[in-house]
Amino acid sequence: MKKIFQKIMGTLIVTAMVINVVSAAYASSSISSQKSEINQKIQETKESLNEVNSQKAESEDKVEELSGQIGSYESQISSLESEIEEKTNEVQEMQKKLDELEAEREKNQKLLDERLITLYEKGEVSYIDMLLSSADLSQFISNYYMIETLTAADKDLIENLENDKKEIADTQDKLNASLDEIETKKTELESIKKQLSDAKDEEQSKVDELTEQSHDLESDVEEYEKKMKELDAKEKAQEEALRKKYEEAKKKAEQAASANSGSSSSSSSSGSSSSSGTVSSKGFIRPVTSGKITATMYYSSGSYHGAVDFGVSTGTPVYAAADGIVVTSTWGGSDSYGYYIKIKHYNGLYTLYAHGSSLKVSVGQEVKQGDLIMLSGNTGNSTGPHLHFEVRVAPGGYSNRVNPLNYLP
Ligand SMILES: [Zn+2]
Repeated sequence: MKKIFQKIMGTLIVTAMVINVVSAAYASSSISSQKSEINQKIQETKESLNEVNSQKAESEDKVEELSGQIGSYESQISSLESEIEEKTNEVQEMQKKLDELEAEREKNQKLLDERLITLYEKGEVSYIDMLLSSADLSQFISNYYMIETLTAADKDLIENLENDKKEIADTQDKLNASLDEIETKKTELESIKKQLSDAKDEEQSKVDELTEQSHDLESDVEEYEKKMKELDAKEKAQEEALRKKYEEAKKKAEQAASANSGSSSSSSSSGSSSSSGTVSSKGFIRPVTSGKITATMYYSSGSYHGAVDFGVSTGTPVYAAADGIVVTSTWGGSDSYGYYIKIKHYNGLYTLYAHGSSLKVSVGQEVKQGDLIMLSGNTGNSTGPHLHFEVRVAPGGYSNRVNPLNYLP
């Protein structure tokens, strides 16, 4: 138990140390990692934006479709309304006719009543009067029949009027029934229209919400792109400063070399030289003082390697192969270099040191040949502790790698 605790604590302390050293170096080159982070955010945000926009377009299509359906129901309802109006007018007209017929019937009824009263008043008692008032019998008969005939005509007229009224009332009933039917149909259509309207409102509120989301995402993208521009500018300024620093250091080195050219070649290595090994004709020393070469430009499998591997245990000091400026000091990824350093030398060549356990110099730092720059390790795509050493004729691109054995002593 105690042993395990000690082991964990030990690991934690070592990890903390590594992180400390690395984060100092990392800060100067964090622009590229910030850029890739923001780039990823931009991609993700744009994906979300596309998703939201396609959902929005879908909802908008639905709203449009529902609007079309509502429109068709509205025109059906409005045609029913004009039908209702028409039929209502007809019913009212019939009512007017009925009222007129009723008035006529009442008028004729009154006439008939008056005649009947006259006839009644001239009833049994009055026959004598009629007889007496008539000049002769034929006049009496004529008077009597005249009243009878008129009464019969009145009765016919009233009967006809009643028939007419009945016919019109029947038609009116039929009209009212069909009006009821239309009203029912209209109510039905209105309820469907209401359902469609509700669905449309719901869909529209979805559209509104998605529109807001879309705007938010758009402004997010804008903000990220603005940040990206700032980082680009920062990176450019950093690159420019690094280039200037390199040019100045190179000039200084050239001046020192020409000043030394008079004296003998005793001080070709001007560095701190904890490892002042043999210098090659190309001006390079081996980056490690121990360790056998375990792999060269091609692996034993035959696949391209583009570097030289030195079999050294983790923590072995790694030295700058020649004077120069540190242009990279960073974490290169677990599937790649791990912790690594890249130096630009004054002859225009680059050297690269990979799979380190600890970075000892930072970007922009001037180094002398033999300066400690890194401790070797087993980080990144590495199957065992070793130093991976590359020489390049240009900073980027694997095709710019040349055989280190042609440059080393
Ligand atoms: Zn290697």
